[in-house]
Amino acid sequence: MRMSRYFLPVLKETPAEAQIVSHRYMLRAGMIKQASAGIYSWLPLGYKVLKKIENIVHEEQQRAGHMPMLMPTIQSADLWRESGRYEAFGDEMLRIKDRHDRDMLFTPTAEELVTDIFRSHVSSYKDLPLTMYQIQWKFRDERRPRFGVMRGREFYMKDGYNFDLTKEDALHAYNRHLVSYLRTYERMGLQAIPMRADSGAMGGDDTHEFLVLAETGESEVFYDSAVTDLSFGAREIDYDNVAQCAGVMEEFTTKYARTDETHDEALFNEVPEERRRTARGIEVGQIFYFGTKYSEAMKATIQGPDGKSVPVHMGSHGIGVSRLLGAIIEASHDDKGIIWPEGVTPFHVGIVNLKQGDDEADAACEALYKSFAALGLEPLYDDRNERAGGKFATMDLIGLPWRITVGPRGLKNGVVELTSRRTGESEELPPEEAVKKVA
Ligand code: ATP
Ligand code: MG
Ligand code: MG
Ligand code: MG
Repeated sequence: MRMSRYFLPVLKETPAEAQIVSHRYMLRAGMIKQASAGIYSWLPLGYKVLKKIENIVHEEQQRAGHMPMLMPTIQSADLWRESGRYEAFGDEMLRIKDRHDRDMLFTPTAEELVTDIFRSHVSSYKDLPLTMYQIQWKFRDERRPRFGVMRGREFYMKDGYNFDLTKEDALHAYNRHLVSYLRTYERMGLQAIPMRADSGAMGGDDTHEFLVLAETGESEVFYDSAVTDLSFGAREIDYDNVAQCAGVMEEFTTKYARTDETHDEALFNEVPEERRRTARGIEVGQIFYFGTKYSEAMKATIQGPDGKSVPVHMGSHGIGVSRLLGAIIEASHDDKGIIWPEGVTPFHVGIVNLKQGDDEADAACEALYKSFAALGLEPLYDDRNERAGGKFATMDLIGLPWRITVGPRGLKNGVVELTSRRTGESEELPPEEAVKKVA
């Protein structure tokens, strides 16, 4: 992409309404624009990162054997009356009337609709286990939308639903989700710690939230510092292997880590004092096992091997796809701007031409641009006729992992300058070498 043709409305001034760094940088880098309270347009740069994050979520869900599907954003109130949540959801639910005066709503989550799909088509244990998920816009009329995309009213969420014959099978689905979430967040360069949580409006028994530690997080959390030493890493996992998934679950959830809703002071005090931590965290996902809560209310039953009809065991599992942009920035930035982890960066490398219009510099930039494209990498080439200082400031703000600076003086010696956004370190080297290092 050439900057001269890209829509990147960078703001010089810090917007007064933005209280936290991720919101400030997303506005300043021209990633989003507020349309109304808690509702945003995704401008090209923001949209690009959103799609990168979404893509990682898709890949990891499908790796775990979960099937993508898509349900509508506007739903009829009838199903929600069956489960009892039409009332229970209260003011967070956006209620709409259609022209025939029928009660409709904008989906805040989709347990009811997916359960209805299930009961219409599945009646035998032979069709289980089944896990389907979608990545779809949700709406919750939050009392205090704030912090940009972190607490929007409209937000993008992955929601997955498992259907199993027994509680045991459903707990395997739960563990499978835990494992796939660990992989998902790590690919985004994030440490998200599973913490025992409260099931709130979903109802149910087992639930963990995934929290990214950050001062600006809205949740208060208590944990054994040993949990921050854990990482899933590159280990192989067989998602059908019940014992292996249970082992990962055990490894990541036995040490003390809880949100304030389930915090237990006495248990916490059993953690060695030097390892006790109280901090703040951003909830980037949550997994639930809620058994037969919806299947009983909505009569989603299946015939087991013994011929008896039983309500299906279920769980649901969410990832805050749009919130993740904010969480990643909160976890990875400096005073100049965003520092994108490689896995989600909108472009792989920025090319800065110090002297636009100089034949040699222009040609060297074009050649670099083509080399990256040939390698399947996306460069962002700042080909505008602007001062170097402004070009550097923009590159730092939008936070690409690498910057290549090209100018007539370096080219005389056959070199360009390669700078790492994260370390700030620069080195001079021939253009081909710079390409190799980035690739
Ligand atoms: P919160 O406690 O922050 O209100 P929640 O527990 O109500 O979130 P869930 O029902 O668990 O949310 O939804 C799954 C995920 O969707 C959350 O873990 C979070 O990452 C994301 N999410 C929820 N509400 C919002 C929102 N208003 N804006 C952006 N993302 C959200
Ligand atoms: Mg909420
Ligand atoms: Mg919550
Ligand atoms: Mg939650």
